[in-house]
Amino acid sequence: MTRPPALYWRALSDDTIQCLLCPRRCAIENGQSGHCGARTNFHGRMEIPFYAMVSSLAVDPIEKKPLARYLPGTYSFSVGFWHCTMDCPFCQNWEIAHPKPRHVFPRSIEASELITQALAAGTPSISFTYSEPCLHAEYLLECMSLAKTRGLKTVLVTNGCIQVPAARDILALTDAANVDLKSSSAEKYVKVLGGSLETVINFIQLASSYCHLEVTALAVPGILDSEEDFDLIGRILSIIDPSIPLHITSYHPDYRWNLPALDASQVRNLARPAGRWLKNLIIHA
Ligand code: SF4
Repeated sequence: MTRPPALYWRALSDDTIQCLLCPRRCAIENGQSGHCGARTNFHGRMEIPFYAMVSSLAVDPIEKKPLARYLPGTYSFSVGFWHCTMDCPFCQNWEIAHPKPRHVFPRSIEASELITQALAAGTPSISFTYSEPCLHAEYLLECMSLAKTRGLKTVLVTNGCIQVPAARDILALTDAANVDLKSSSAEKYVKVLGGSLETVINFIQLASSYCHLEVTALAVPGILDSEEDFDLIGRILSIIDPSIPLHITSYHPDYRWNLPALDASQVRNLARPAGRWLKNLIIHA
């Protein structure tokens, strides 16, 4: 399989490179990988060991992404990769987002073959989802370009924790996106989730100008569980565009987070303050 050159990196010295894809901006020595495990320094050049490696393929209702206002009632050919740019302790897809090396099964699919499979499934769109698709920016760009030339709509489901140059390239080929907004606190984003609130807000702002956009906030006890949190999330989104649909969903205990899930009435009560700022609140509880 021919691989395109890795993008979004620079040389720091003969031996060390810096990845510029996500806000961690890992400095990576020869033979090592960045924090995510998916981008590697091979003799002073960036390599992408998981290029075209697919973890999951399925056909899902578009509402499962979740997208409520884009191609409603249709199905979407859905693709997942491996690894993630963030470290959420409650990860709902940890088996593919944080896999142990022996649990990664090597199934690679050329971009052209992937799009052929999506067209054969007969869905109007292809969704890049389940794990963090933007981590595989080069393959994602290849797949999205091909999808668009062959008449498929492209859907991106992402944590939005990606730097502006890559975000612009990806969003320019995206028809619809759902972005997770996991906290209203910059401190929690850094210390608990391993991400950057500022980067995610910038991504949401960019996405709102490029494509159809919806946002998801997952109610997680101990992380995103107060009316103040949801009030701030509503306020942040309303500054960008008060008509952005906000999905509020309840987590289930998983990965390293065991606190019991909030019940339906708790989630509805938490969500209420966000509804004061936004026109489209969709509560999944
Ligand atoms: S994408 Fe991976 S290697 Fe690049 S900066 Fe982020 S965590 Fe580091």
